[in-house]
Amino acid sequence: MSLIVQKFGGSSVANPERLKNVANRVTETRKKGHSVVVVVSAMGDKTDELIELSKAVTDKPSEREMDMLLATGEQVSVALLAMALHKNGVKAISFTGPQVGIMTDRVHTKARIVNINADRIRKALREGNAVIVAGFQGQTEDHEITTLGRGGSDLTAVALAAVLKAPVCEIYTDVDGVYTADPRIVGDAQKLDVISYDEMLELASLGAQVMQARSVEVGKKYNVPILVRSSLNHTEGTLITKEVKAMENFLVRGVALNTNEAKVTIYGVPDKPGVAARIFKKLADHNVNVDMIIQNKTNKATTDISFTVLQSEIVKALATVKAAAAAVRAETVDCDENIAKVSIVGVGMRSHSGVASRMFDALAKNKINIEMISTSEIKISCVIPKACGKDAVSALHKAFGLGKAQKVMKE
Ligand code: ADP
Ligand code: ASP
Ligand code: MG
Repeated sequence: MSLIVQKFGGSSVANPERLKNVANRVTETRKKGHSVVVVVSAMGDKTDELIELSKAVTDKPSEREMDMLLATGEQVSVALLAMALHKNGVKAISFTGPQVGIMTDRVHTKARIVNINADRIRKALREGNAVIVAGFQGQTEDHEITTLGRGGSDLTAVALAAVLKAPVCEIYTDVDGVYTADPRIVGDAQKLDVISYDEMLELASLGAQVMQARSVEVGKKYNVPILVRSSLNHTEGTLITKEVKAMENFLVRGVALNTNEAKVTIYGVPDKPGVAARIFKKLADHNVNVDMIIQNKTNKATTDISFTVLQSEIVKALATVKAAAAAVRAETVDCDENIAKVSIVGVGMRSHSGVASRMFDALAKNKINIEMISTSEIKISCVIPKACGKDAVSALHKAFGLGKAQKVMKE
């Protein structure tokens, strides 16, 4: 008998029927003799609906109150799941994140877990309960409720698996595993049997919604095997695990699309030391996460700086940037929300050349203009017009031969 952490996402608990299905799967696990900690998300699109509700009241909601609001979604699911388990004759108890000692920093709406005191979970498990924990939430030292960023229930599950030393963290969702691209965009996307933490981390950071990026980071740090699978069938899923040499035989493992970012450009920035530091310090002070940054030295006394931020943070980002731009005597600030970022990821890129040119060529053949480029050891990303996003994913998926069973490279 071992301890299994199982997480069920919003789509898996979207309505009472789905919720009962989850209760049946947890009941199966209990019947096999395992202890189980279950992490649950808010039902269906509840979190989005709550965000819309806040927008109907104000366009600048306090982040503390946002967390008070959003944390309610998961509390509904855990209570209902516990009830459904009781009906199945399974002893179960539900808890909020704060009730089970999930302690975070004070950064509302995207807090980081700093500590988990799992004593209460351990006690409830010893008493024979299936323990149901609300995902996506924790509390600060001052007992303020926080949330862990979108998709944060994955993080709750992986962090609990790490603390409880569970041999596996199962992530149940509405697809059969991690695919070479979002199967909703690319019809012949292939399910991967296994993927490395680093590849999954890049794919998740670059828009593959199936796992929250920070949860993969924590999984890697504490070496938690993560199994992504469907809550609607018993097909084997995708194991996210440590990198092994054979993974390098695949040039590209997946293509990701992110349509949640906006591009900010500051024109006429004085070209002297310390200016960029001042601008980006202001953004950091306001907890605005900046993604791609481009600045080019020109022959003039000024330069232009472009960077991308989350669309959900654009109001805060623009207010901060405009103030910072004025302070350094830059000319103007402009914002483009009609962008998308398309990326290819694979550890095989480390040891093979020519990947970037193949990517740019595939985009060019589809008349897709590249606005920004960034690379790391195992990924290449291009910012393109938003309207071209899906075509770009399909074109790259095809160009790198991901649709058929992936071929191992010869050289
Ligand atoms: P949950 O509600 O279970 O947390 P999410 O909606 O957060 O589920 O994540 C699952 C979705 O992620 C899938 O329905 C799929 O459309 C999307 N997705 C994006 N990229 C990928 C990928 N590479 N592999 C699998 N799913 C992906
Ligand atoms: N309900 C939260 C969200 O939609 C957390 C999660 O589903 O993981 O982002
Ligand atoms: Mg999710």
